Amino acid sequence: MIAPPLTPNAIAYAWERLLAIAGAHDPAPPHAYGPADAPLPRPGVVIVPAAPDAWAQLLEARPGRLTWLPAADLFPAGYPRPFDDAVPVLFESDAGGGKPPIWIRKDGSIVFHIDLIAATLFMLTRWEEVVLPRRDEHDRFPAAESVAYRQGFLDQPIVDRYAMILRAWLQKLQPSWQPQHHQFQLRLSHDIDHLRRFETAGLAIRQAGRDLLREKNIARAWRDASDYVQGRWRFARSPYLLALEHFADQAEALNTRAVFYVLAGGDAIYDTGYDVTNPIFRHILLRLHERGHIIGLHPSYETYLDPQRYLAEKTRLENILGFEVRHARQHYLRFRIPNTWRTAAEAGVQEDATLGYAQREGFRCGTAHPFPVFDIITDKTLPLTEMPLHVMDGTLKEYQRLTPEESRQRLRLMARRVAEVAGTLQLLWHNHAALPPWTRWREAYSQF
Ligand SMILES: [Zn+2]
Repeated sequence: MIAPPLTPNAIAYAWERLLAIAGAHDPAPPHAYGPADAPLPRPGVVIVPAAPDAWAQLLEARPGRLTWLPAADLFPAGYPRPFDDAVPVLFESDAGGGKPPIWIRKDGSIVFHIDLIAATLFMLTRWEEVVLPRRDEHDRFPAAESVAYRQGFLDQPIVDRYAMILRAWLQKLQPSWQPQHHQFQLRLSHDIDHLRRFETAGLAIRQAGRDLLREKNIARAWRDASDYVQGRWRFARSPYLLALEHFADQAEALNTRAVFYVLAGGDAIYDTGYDVTNPIFRHILLRLHERGHIIGLHPSYETYLDPQRYLAEKTRLENILGFEVRHARQHYLRFRIPNTWRTAAEAGVQEDATLGYAQREGFRCGTAHPFPVFDIITDKTLPLTEMPLHVMDGTLKEYQRLTPEESRQRLRLMARRVAEVAGTLQLLWHNHAALPPWTRWREAYSQF
């Protein structure tokens, strides 16, 4: 098994992340990761490490075995708590002498017997995805295998919550200190998997045949044929393309920019094979770009383990658009840690936005703050930001079969959890999911 990432580089990275989310990184308070009596030049923060075998134990822990502490026990008395629900302790350090989980020692320093450093590294580096073998039919790490899902905290941005607790104690340590505040943001993103319902006559004929012979539905077969003809002859009016403009309008009305991820290759059966060089489509992309929206790459099905193919698709898209592409999200959310991160960084992509689960909404990385990627194999930070993905359209309607009203509630819960930690809520809505039979889910998305 690959050892838990507890090198000096990794520990420094985790401190930097926690303090940055807490708004306390510049200048950082004195801090130590060691025994409760670790020396500090001035009063600061000490995090007592959990035992090294705690990492393997966490992977094996049965559901319900983690300690959950009420928010009231985690924040200083009288502090205006940003959230009120109980929080799980992923890594408990040996308290010794019956001390509470967080206490103030004689010199005024705050001592945590909750190992925030280990928890941050556990969630952000995705170590569990490297060491656990189970994958779904698309070779993806399944939500149900994750510790967060099994222990019931996938719907909590646990790293951010720990950072909020750290911030509260820093404010108690130094009441005059003002943390740098983050702001809640919405990241609206759209994968373009289809430009029209049928890319080829063969696909349309097959579908019409199925509807006619198997379903005995003449009206539907007629619509298949008509959709194909319209897609072919009235391509510029394709509802799949019009949806792109609507998404852009919606983002602008909310004072934000949308991100559109474009497929630029791929010949797997899961790649849809639309023509990215189509001049009408190109014109639309350029117009979106001019309006200030971001055009990113949607690397095709096999790219997650194929750096050459990834780079070729990025170059192709850049040649078509005439500008550099810096954003990417993997088609089908196919991802291998750390290979796909490295592939993206080496291709010159600055931000990947893949890491959410297809099967379940929530916080795969335990955070709603974009973060620099740490590669646990090379023990280095990569020149790449991960923008975590929180909710995808298909996760609500198809994987979990939620009603539009249930979907709206899940979206609201996610938004509230992200707002509590002033993070960025990232949503993924496909352009084909703006059309029937998605209409009522699309409304839930637009209105939540
Ligand atoms: Zn896709």
